[in-house]
Amino acid sequence: MKNSYDKYIIAFSGGKDSISLVLYLLSIGIHPSRIELWHHDIDGGSDEATFMDWECTHDYCRKFAQAFGIEIYFSWKEGGFKREMLRDNAKTAPTWFECPGGILKKVGGVLGKLATRLRFPQVSADLKVRWCSAYLKIDICATAIRNQERFNGLRVCVLSGERGEESSARAKYNIFEPDRSDLRNGKVPRVIDRWRPLRDWTEKQVWDIIKQYRVRVHPCYYMGWSRCSCKFCIFGNADQFASANVVSPNIASELIAYEDLFGVTMKRNTDLKTLIQCGNPYPNITKDLATIATSKEYTEQIIFNDHEEWLLPAGAFGESCGPN
Ligand code: SF4
Repeated sequence: MKNSYDKYIIAFSGGKDSISLVLYLLSIGIHPSRIELWHHDIDGGSDEATFMDWECTHDYCRKFAQAFGIEIYFSWKEGGFKREMLRDNAKTAPTWFECPGGILKKVGGVLGKLATRLRFPQVSADLKVRWCSAYLKIDICATAIRNQERFNGLRVCVLSGERGEESSARAKYNIFEPDRSDLRNGKVPRVIDRWRPLRDWTEKQVWDIIKQYRVRVHPCYYMGWSRCSCKFCIFGNADQFASANVVSPNIASELIAYEDLFGVTMKRNTDLKTLIQCGNPYPNITKDLATIATSKEYTEQIIFNDHEEWLLPAGAFGESCGPN
């Protein structure tokens, strides 16, 4: 059953859980040629300026895929997080996605409602107000599946790395269900299932499999982040924002200025300036690590050399601030 799909698409953020998904599939004997990694760039295309995310993430994901001989495809909303946040009586931007053979496709941006945001996504389980997850990840993935004829007539499994340990909401997610892009009863059927094999995994299991394959994780973990999400993820706590402010003070200032402009804060009970002042930056942030994390090109080895000791990152088993 697990082995019966034509394709396995992994929602690959570059974080520890999505890495574990790849390693888990390899460990149960799925050949790399049947796996695709799909990474949704939060800030738009790779030529657009980084705003919320880590600069190195795009290239880290590319190099990870290369190291394991797996195809990777990138997709994004034009203008990314910032354009969606600054929507002012405007339609949502088109979606771009890469396809096999170096083909780049653009969909949407023509129909749709005029709407105004002019605020950060709100910290909530409700995806209508926490719009970043829906508009920059979930919808992008479904659009890229629905608009590629190559999936017609296939059985495809989409894997995502939610773990129940992270929140009570995630603990209730189905491990297995039809994906939102499924069309098994359509005129031209395509079977798209969603599988969350890590739902009942502990964080220890995640680090164990990463250690087994000797993977060097994203540099944010070595600096002390326990979760590799956007650098300035809306779910970040005071220490995380204080740390991000050390790494990228200019962007922190830009975010603070947007709060002033919108007259609406990102967090319900405090503004970013106060939050940053209340936090303690992670002690493991070094100039070298910060440079690696904020460079567009990732040049470290993905797999530790044989003579190197695999190191558990400083952020492992730390405070986890994520969607609830
Ligand atoms: S990582 Fe955080 S800020 Fe980025 S898209 Fe997800 S919820 Fe939004």
